[in-house]
Amino acid sequence: MSHNRLRVCLKFTVLFAISGAFSAAFAQTSPTRPESIVVFAPHPDDEVIGCAGIIQQALARGAKVKVVDITSGDGFDAAAAGVTHKAVNQVGPDDFLALSRLRQTQSRNALEILSGKADDLFVLGYPDGELGNLYNSTDDKVLRQQFTKKNETYALIQTDYHTSAHGKPAPYRRSSVLDDLVELLTTLQPTEIYVTDETDGHIDHRAAFWFVRDAAKQAGYKGAFYTFLVHGLPAWPFPPGVTPTQPFESRKVDGEVAPRGLPWPPPRRVPLTPEQAQRKLKSIQAHNIPVVGMPEHQSEMESFVKSEEVFWTPLASSH
Ligand SMILES: [Zn+2]
Repeated sequence: MSHNRLRVCLKFTVLFAISGAFSAAFAQTSPTRPESIVVFAPHPDDEVIGCAGIIQQALARGAKVKVVDITSGDGFDAAAAGVTHKAVNQVGPDDFLALSRLRQTQSRNALEILSGKADDLFVLGYPDGELGNLYNSTDDKVLRQQFTKKNETYALIQTDYHTSAHGKPAPYRRSSVLDDLVELLTTLQPTEIYVTDETDGHIDHRAAFWFVRDAAKQAGYKGAFYTFLVHGLPAWPFPPGVTPTQPFESRKVDGEVAPRGLPWPPPRRVPLTPEQAQRKLKSIQAHNIPVVGMPEHQSEMESFVKSEEVFWTPLASSH
């Protein structure tokens, strides 16, 4: 080693020593932000389909985990018929409320299966099937849900978020959803948030993304922002079936690459242990509903049990 190189080396050693001491002092004096994740689900079940592994791993690390069900899934007629043992064309508002009650209970149970607390579930109580209309409404008018006939937030197993925070429900309008989400982000101060992806085939899932994205911007959120895919197009997931030892795959369907509109491989792949995949399966099974005319409904949900969970980062460039 030459003399000059030695001097340079010493200089760097001193520099690293100083910066090391500085970081250590900084770490001692500045409170580290506790890890806190929030999973936003358009309907009860999306949180476990997309994030059951993430939830388990975060809880095991001692992180805080909250799940926010934006609707309580009260707009699914074939499921309301299955729950109330009626024909699909016979279900009325009370049957949709029975479904809503069941799905809220299922979300609470599923969270407990993943070692979370049932009370870490927030139910916003916005109308299933109408999130796209709410997001796209330009006059902020109050919407009445066609299935339950409700026009304001509600929850049946617990109190809906707006009522618990403000003493009264929020009307079904665009600004109510956004305000509730901004308030939640401000209160919970998450370090990571998860929501359904903008390319999802279900309008409620796309609208959940738009609302959460806008709320994050409004709240000045600076943490990580991940999306997950449920109704991927033209078909999803692959390989089909419960395959806890196999990762997700991109495949061609009728000449088109699935998932449509998303990069593959995905930017974030989180491996699950066999035990975590097994618990994910149990948490999805906790959402079992007899859906009239759709016997494949449950097995489709269970096919998200893979050896990993995959996420995209559509806002990475703006954060
Ligand atoms: Zn959904």
